[in-house]
Amino acid sequence: MATTHSDTTRAAQTLAKILRLERQGNFRNRAVVGGLDAFLRRWQADLGPVASAPVPYADMDAEQRGKWVADTLARIGDAPPSAPPPNAPQDDGRASRSPAQPKPARKRQPRSDPAPAVPLRLDDDISRLRSVSARVKPRLERLGIQNILDLIYHFPHRHDDFTNIRTIAELVPGEPQSLIAAVWEVTESVGRGKTKSAQAVLSDHTGNIRVIWFNQSYIKNILKPGMRVIIRGEPKIYLGRLSFQSPDYEIIDSREDDDRGVHQEKLQPVYPLTDGLYQRTIRRIVKEALDAALAQVREYLPDDILRMHDLMPLRDAISRMHHPESAEQAEAARRRLAFDELLMLQLTVARRRAQWQESGGAIPLRSDDGLLDGFLGRLPYSLTAAQSGALAEILGDMRREIPMGRLLQGDVGSGKTVVAIAALLTAALNGYQAALMAPTEILAEQHFLTAAEMLSALTADPDAPDAPAAEVYVSVRMPSREKPLVVGLLTGSLSKRAKDEMHRRIAAAEVDIVIGTQALIQSAVEMPNLALVVVDEQHRFGVMQRNAMRHKSGPPHMLVMSATPIPRSLALTLCGDLDLSTIDELPPGRQPIKTIRVEPAQRHATYDFVRAQIRAGRQAFIICPLVEESEAIQARAATEEYERLSKEVFPDLRLGLLHGRMSFNDKEAVMSSFQDGELNILVSTPVIEVGIDVPNASVMLIDGAERFGLAQLHQFRGRVGRGAHQSYCLLLSDAPGAEARERLKIMERVSDGFQLAEEDLRIRGPGDYMGTRQSGILDMKVARISDQDILLLARKEAARILSADPDLARQENAPIAARLAAHTAGAHTEVT
Ligand code: ADP
Ligand code: MG
Repeated sequence: MATTHSDTTRAAQTLAKILRLERQGNFRNRAVVGGLDAFLRRWQADLGPVASAPVPYADMDAEQRGKWVADTLARIGDAPPSAPPPNAPQDDGRASRSPAQPKPARKRQPRSDPAPAVPLRLDDDISRLRSVSARVKPRLERLGIQNILDLIYHFPHRHDDFTNIRTIAELVPGEPQSLIAAVWEVTESVGRGKTKSAQAVLSDHTGNIRVIWFNQSYIKNILKPGMRVIIRGEPKIYLGRLSFQSPDYEIIDSREDDDRGVHQEKLQPVYPLTDGLYQRTIRRIVKEALDAALAQVREYLPDDILRMHDLMPLRDAISRMHHPESAEQAEAARRRLAFDELLMLQLTVARRRAQWQESGGAIPLRSDDGLLDGFLGRLPYSLTAAQSGALAEILGDMRREIPMGRLLQGDVGSGKTVVAIAALLTAALNGYQAALMAPTEILAEQHFLTAAEMLSALTADPDAPDAPAAEVYVSVRMPSREKPLVVGLLTGSLSKRAKDEMHRRIAAAEVDIVIGTQALIQSAVEMPNLALVVVDEQHRFGVMQRNAMRHKSGPPHMLVMSATPIPRSLALTLCGDLDLSTIDELPPGRQPIKTIRVEPAQRHATYDFVRAQIRAGRQAFIICPLVEESEAIQARAATEEYERLSKEVFPDLRLGLLHGRMSFNDKEAVMSSFQDGELNILVSTPVIEVGIDVPNASVMLIDGAERFGLAQLHQFRGRVGRGAHQSYCLLLSDAPGAEARERLKIMERVSDGFQLAEEDLRIRGPGDYMGTRQSGILDMKVARISDQDILLLARKEAARILSADPDLARQENAPIAARLAAHTAGAHTEVT
């Protein structure tokens, strides 16, 4: 672009004037509207490097500002501004570029980019980077970024597309185009019919253009003179002049330090942020990390794998993940990095499976000779075909010396419990111990009671008294055994003495089947004859650490049950080390549950509906809003709600209260009076989420439904519809946000758990699926659940690698082994 000498002089005079103003104003960046940086950028065409600041003026402290203003004024005065010295220092001398350490060659190097004097190591702390200030460091750490490698692997979640950016002079009517320009003024205009529109004049160095947003006058409160915006749309001739009408717009950070970057980089990374961390800052920091250390990232995949699967070399992939030249290139980079993640995951699960199974030494448990006939024959129903199939697969595994590793999945209410109890009983009848672990106390307690009831039907002595409900031992005398079969309940509600006693009896093998919470069973108990472990409702996947059970007495058979149906795709990914049994049918006679969203205004009508159901002989659950994760606070809120409902809403009905802070006896008393129909309504905190089984209940009213996720809502809903009565799930919510509203609508529409799980994945993505994020199992940043082809490729490759070299001991697999070790240790990788 041509600038005349007089332009330059005028610009220099203006700048000098502004800088003096700024000095008078004590360098508060108030001299021009929109800040000095925007001003400088606008005038850069005329002024050249004289007007550039090494860091954004806005980011300098008062002292730096003073110095820069003085220097700049001196430059304007001393040297003709149109002819700055060819190598005018661009940075303020903080870094000296050593000729021995040339910058890594990168195509698009913004001029003022700082170059580190010494190459950094991948495991160096981020504070080694010049652009990481003491203020920014903790913010990065909040994102889990500790070292340079973390930064390199801090990928943008998208790119802003600056392709096809035109100047104002280049715009042509009638084509979709983008424009970057500064806002000169924004006004409101009132059109016909009193509609108010916003009108802006934008300018760049080639001219200006009018932009109108019809009916969106609020935009005048958003756009301010001096801001830089990107406009995307189709300019048209309007009132004889080219203009944009209601285009997309986006404010480009008006303190953007590096606007050359904007022009030069067509796809600009947009990074995940945290409070107080700005896009421009993280961009600068990641860029510095890449420049300083990317060269040290080493490829770990052999060439032939890369070639065979058309994968980008690692360093290119990382670099292109941040700074792609095209959307295709970004996708190719993502593909490569997704392959890495999935390969590591597949290697991990395949090795875990191999180790689990090769360890052998599980106790073979026989189940032939109709061992379970007595049990199955005394059930009040016969198993569904799906239940029988799953049980046969489980018993088949248990007959072998290879430890079982099986996931039993089935929708809520599909009848997993009875299958589990059959397996536990099999172990006990073989003379061994078995454990059933549940995620909550209430569920453990309920399982204990269910097992007690089912097994008591087997007793040889019909005169034996019923097992006292609140006891924590049940013993069943059986015709086939000398000793009675003993079931024990181990939960945190036990007194210290009762717990010690339970431990002692378990350790002495006096208890055959232990039912309890996972934490307790795993941490505190030695079970000398342990042969089978069942983990119920393992939708949180915390315990894939099956090894934790192992030292107890060689590897037990392991059955994991999940009511959160895992889409097959994800099951492969997450549980590739488990065999899969699925109960894909509900017991006969169930009616589909009607799910209805209810507005706050209908709250009382909803209560009336509950009352009508109770008159008809049914019972209802009312779930209190999730106030906080804290059990104590939830308990308090539920107590208040219980009192309100009892006194004000249903004074004529019998209500019970259930929360996690109650003692075992209290919970048990409430549960059993609800189960026996003595209570009409059970008011509960979300503790009831899983497992509870009361067939006469026909209403599940979820208050504050917007606060729960789909999986959880489906679990609540699964508490009803277990008997023959038409059941209802009522979702009461105040002002749900857009995402919550979508969830509630999905709940109304979708009743099938598997389909719901797919929807959940779609909304939340796999990273957040079923709490897998916390468990770290699915720590994938790049791979997506839709990457089925890459997943299969990774599985195949993992199998191929391990079949030739099961322990990854060969020389040529050393880089893969190292990466896997780092992956297992939770590091990204290349640091060795
Ligand atoms: P989940 O799979 O969600 O754990 P449960 O094991 O709690 O389901 O079973 C749900 C209900 O279905 C229980 O009331 C149970 O007694 C009943 N049930 C289980 N199997 C059958 C069956 N084959 N026929 C009829 N009812 C069954
Ligand atoms: Mg269950």
